[in-house]
Amino acid sequence: MPTTRVADNAYDVALENFETAANALGLDHDTQEMIKYPERVLMVTVPVRMDDGHIRRFEAYRVQHSQVRGPAKGGIRYHPQVTLDEVKALATWMTWKCAVVNIPFGGAKGGITCDPKHMSQGELERMTRRYTSAILPLIGPQQDIPAPDVYTNSQTMAWIMDTYSMTKGYPIPGVVTGKPISLGGSLGRNEATGRGVFYTIECACEHLHLPLKGATVAVQGFGNAGSIAAQLLHEAGAKVIAVSDSTGCVYNKNGLNIPELMHMKVLCGHVEGFPESEAISPAQLLALDCDILVPAALENTVHADNAEAVRAKIVAEAANGPLTPAADRILQNKGVFIIPDILCNAGGVTVSYFEWVQDEQHLFWEAQDVYNRLERVMKTAFRDVVKIHVERKVPMRIAANMLGIGRVAEAVQLRGIYP
Ligand code: NAD
Repeated sequence: MPTTRVADNAYDVALENFETAANALGLDHDTQEMIKYPERVLMVTVPVRMDDGHIRRFEAYRVQHSQVRGPAKGGIRYHPQVTLDEVKALATWMTWKCAVVNIPFGGAKGGITCDPKHMSQGELERMTRRYTSAILPLIGPQQDIPAPDVYTNSQTMAWIMDTYSMTKGYPIPGVVTGKPISLGGSLGRNEATGRGVFYTIECACEHLHLPLKGATVAVQGFGNAGSIAAQLLHEAGAKVIAVSDSTGCVYNKNGLNIPELMHMKVLCGHVEGFPESEAISPAQLLALDCDILVPAALENTVHADNAEAVRAKIVAEAANGPLTPAADRILQNKGVFIIPDILCNAGGVTVSYFEWVQDEQHLFWEAQDVYNRLERVMKTAFRDVVKIHVERKVPMRIAANMLGIGRVAEAVQLRGIYP
């Protein structure tokens, strides 16, 4: 029972957020024009021989929004609702996100409009390899480094790394991040986004003087980001009372057993029917009386029609763009503390950066080393954003955008315009 995705165009939202923050920063028109739009947009056709022998055509994209502060960086999404505008929006957010956590990358994103749930492993592999070949002129460890996103994973990255390396003639693990450990992946990368979400929630609780131990949590979307955030919150003593995925929502007012729920999700592929839980609707999950709501599914799941019902004190945006601008305004007016996506879910790209550094150095770190560095980066970024939020009296989302956009603007002003 998926939540309906409403018509807000993600790219319009990204541009609107940009304008608000750039104007609050007092950025001049020329600088805004230089950093606002994607630098490169590639649209490709991906023909794939399906298992039954017929050939199917998929539309796919790779967008590089910015290489001002370093190589472009961003995930690849496989989903039936992928559009060019969605990919442009996600690429734009990646630029500001990398700048918020102050890692030397720009922003990019890729996507294929497909339904991976109804494709075999062989079909997915052939589609991934052909897509890699089609975007090959754009990607590379010093140019543009893809990573996993919705419905892509470490296996997808292994196929991309292999296709790229075979074409170049030697192994190039640094072309993608989120790889399997045995191919140059980083310890801690798989859990990085959820772990980063957790660190920012810890900071938000401290900022609001809300004890995390005993706090009640609802998590929408129980994939990579949502499930790890739920697990760490559970381990920290918070009570995760509701969780959903695209098949349904489960609720227990005394707290769900998250390790067992994760086990069931791996075994059965869904959360529905979890013992000691009752089924609730997606709308009921959003409206639960809880301290922390973690939207960790897709864009626009909280919108004008359901935002008023949200009762959480903190909304931690593990997903990219989960609130429409209307929902954002409603929650602001209700006094909800929002940890914006470009801060909240930046743990993934931060450990991707660590992975790339390790690949470039051929020297690999211990898991605890990765966690410590990630915690430092996330907590510093949170403090930097809160400082702007408090001093400039702007919402957290605008503060985060001001921090990221300000850093990109400074870099572009220093580089100047070529030729
Ligand atoms: P994923 O594919 O692992 O999980 C997505 C989850 O959302 C699945 O459990 C799916 O069933 C569920 N879902 C889909 N539609 C839903 C709906 N309408 N209601 C409830 N649940 C729904 O993906 P992920 O990597 O966890 O990504 C989730 C979000 O986090 C995306 O917005 C993604 O861009 C963002 N994100 C992910 C990473 C990362 O490293 N994985 C990094 C940054 C941001």
